[in-house]
Amino acid sequence: MFPLILIFFITASAVTYILLKPKLIERRRNKIRKQPFPKKWREILRQNVPYFYNMPADLQLQLKQHLLVFIDEKDFMGFEGIQINDEIKITIAAQACLLLLNRDTNYYNKLKSIYVYPEAFVTNHPTKDAAGVVHEQRRVLSGESWELGKVILSWRDTKDGAMVTDDGRNVVIHEFAHQLDQETGSANGAPFLKHKNRRCWSEVLSKEFDILQSQTQRGEASLLDKYGATNPAEFFAVASEVFFEQPHDMQEIHPQLYSQLQGLYQINPALWI
Ligand SMILES: [Zn+2]
Repeated sequence: MFPLILIFFITASAVTYILLKPKLIERRRNKIRKQPFPKKWREILRQNVPYFYNMPADLQLQLKQHLLVFIDEKDFMGFEGIQINDEIKITIAAQACLLLLNRDTNYYNKLKSIYVYPEAFVTNHPTKDAAGVVHEQRRVLSGESWELGKVILSWRDTKDGAMVTDDGRNVVIHEFAHQLDQETGSANGAPFLKHKNRRCWSEVLSKEFDILQSQTQRGEASLLDKYGATNPAEFFAVASEVFFEQPHDMQEIHPQLYSQLQGLYQINPALWI
């Protein structure tokens, strides 16, 4: 028979490890955040991520520290001839970490791997129609966010999105907004909110989603890309792109939406863009 003392020891060790794990992770991350930021990486930021140099100095520092942790923790894998290098990693990480500033973060802890393709890629997704028939749907995508620890990105679209900072289109912000949304289960446009206004968030986002759906049906122009009318999860991802890249337009046309996103992201890009 397994000695009781041994069972007790194993259980106590497991419980201690579970309790200490977050502290150990945070200690390791603190060490990484204190590492010097390589000069070569700074040069990549200067060339590929002009957004970075618009930000206030304290946010630039935060972003660099997040970037060090992100690159240490995530696996990058290249497909169809892509060789992963510092340029690819820094350009992706800098944009992904924009969504983590000014608040406690667990660095997209469900996310393990980032797959990078040279250009837009083709996926086959089974969809079910009203009669329950499953169809294979071929789609060409510039990015995709999976719940099971994976983000897929087109390098061409990633780089273009980083270089053009004011067109409201950014595939990395889009896919990582989905990752935030997926941290609390299936993506539904309601990411975990620390601020108290959860009900207000739902009201504003629902109202704005309905407006975009109506505009789309009527063929009217809209600040937010029509793809956001697909469902609440896509609406949140599309709205996040515009929040970071066209904050003044969003403040003017959708002030309540801007205010909710400001509450979530804890930053105000209108002050520096
Ligand atoms: Zn999406």
